[in-house]
Amino acid sequence: MSEFKQLIGGELVGGAREMDVVNPANGKPFAKCPVADEAQLNEAVAAARAAFPAWAAKSQDERAELINKVADALGEQTADLARLLTTEQGKPLDQAGMELMASGFTMKTFTGMRLEPRTIQENEKQKVYEIRKPLGVVAAITPWNFPLMMVVHKVAPALLAGNTVVVKPAATTPLTTLKFGEICQKILPPGVVNVICDQNDLGDKLTSHPDVDKISFTGSTATGKKVMEAASRAVKRVTLELGGNDAAIVLDDADPVETAQKVFQAAMANAGQVCLAVKRAYVPGKIYDAFCDELARLAGAAVVDEGTAQGAQIGPVQNQMQYEKLKGLLESAKAEGKVIAGGNAMDREGFFIEPTIVRDVTEDARIVREEQFGPVLPVLRYDEIEDVLVRANDTDYGLGGSVWGKDIERATKVAERVQSGTVWVNQHMALAPNIPFRGAKQSGMGAELGPEGLNEFTQATVINVKLT
Ligand code: NAD
Repeated sequence: MSEFKQLIGGELVGGAREMDVVNPANGKPFAKCPVADEAQLNEAVAAARAAFPAWAAKSQDERAELINKVADALGEQTADLARLLTTEQGKPLDQAGMELMASGFTMKTFTGMRLEPRTIQENEKQKVYEIRKPLGVVAAITPWNFPLMMVVHKVAPALLAGNTVVVKPAATTPLTTLKFGEICQKILPPGVVNVICDQNDLGDKLTSHPDVDKISFTGSTATGKKVMEAASRAVKRVTLELGGNDAAIVLDDADPVETAQKVFQAAMANAGQVCLAVKRAYVPGKIYDAFCDELARLAGAAVVDEGTAQGAQIGPVQNQMQYEKLKGLLESAKAEGKVIAGGNAMDREGFFIEPTIVRDVTEDARIVREEQFGPVLPVLRYDEIEDVLVRANDTDYGLGGSVWGKDIERATKVAERVQSGTVWVNQHMALAPNIPFRGAKQSGMGAELGPEGLNEFTQATVINVKLT
């Protein structure tokens, strides 16, 4: 019997069946996880629905206090949960610890926010203002790259706004989320948070469930389109945080070595499995060789090992499917450009891919056009700013991006022309819970984090009062 339990209506329960959870560092199952069937999904939605009126009736202060307690309890379990996260997800232990801490910090940041009425117009004749109310039952559907952080991005604002939630983690990384459910079970009223697991087969049933009012989804663009389609049938509120193909545009006044080091970090963190990792680097001819050489040196020197090993910097990729996809991409890359570091899966058990740098590659290469989602970085050459902007923007994605250069004003002007939800200057991946994060184009819809992320879990209502 699994030591992990789902959370439905305040009870920790087994599943209709069980599945293996695999450790990506050796490709072997290490735990059993309960799996819900449709009846359990319905129970979870019904429990969330039943808990909604009382939860919504609490004050924001009361809800914030309980969310704070969940964050504190999460903090107390950091060491154990970080180890579990590493074992199911693959990331090095220090990065797992950072995910735990960022999750707690995000929860605490939301507890400091409040939904306040907004005055639109006020004079002796009329008073117009807007209030925000909770939507009802939220479906929170998450991917496998940051299993806990993605849950928190949804659950904290949803709860603060007065909604109840059904969480469904990705099938290959359900365990840390189940432990989060156990914490919620001890602190929150029954049904306010429910956690169910699937084998990638219940997402559609959850999004199309008539008693789900809002879908908060993070995952691939392909699945996001299906979610939007399901939401459209009942005009459900939906937030989509989808894939990305972020470009780093290095300007000709950037220091090639120093910038290569920062870009490398932003490309290889979490073995490149970050929606807003640098996935393409554009570098001017003048510093191209120096930049590529430094990237190749860093890739060769990086410590790739299982996440629990001392000093590991890059872990395995998370699952077999991603591993096979990356092997295919690497084969294409060999014909599309010059591989100057890595280029292969590692000769060991587990889903390890060598940190790979590909230079002399052009726009039409698969490794450039597709979201790799692995420790792989193509480097493209350019000469004119106008040209690089056209090329960097020529993608259906628009999640993040960065511009690097000594002249900050010039770099900022270039940044403003990148078609993405976030563009950083001289940094990349700087996320913070008080700053909204959103995708342009097919990278998403709606915002996460910040007051804008909180508003996504509300219905705005205008109250228009005639005074005289
Ligand atoms: P995925 O789309 O395969 O799965 C995401 C979740 O959707 C899983 O829980 C899955 O079970 C569920 N799902 C599957 N079919 C569904 C359906 N028909 N309806 C509803 N849900 C369904 O994504 P993944 O492979 O787990 O994650 C990787 C992707 O996520 C990458 O593209 C990455 O860029 C993206 N991502 C985006 C962000 C962001 O904030 N923009 C953050 C992290 C990851």
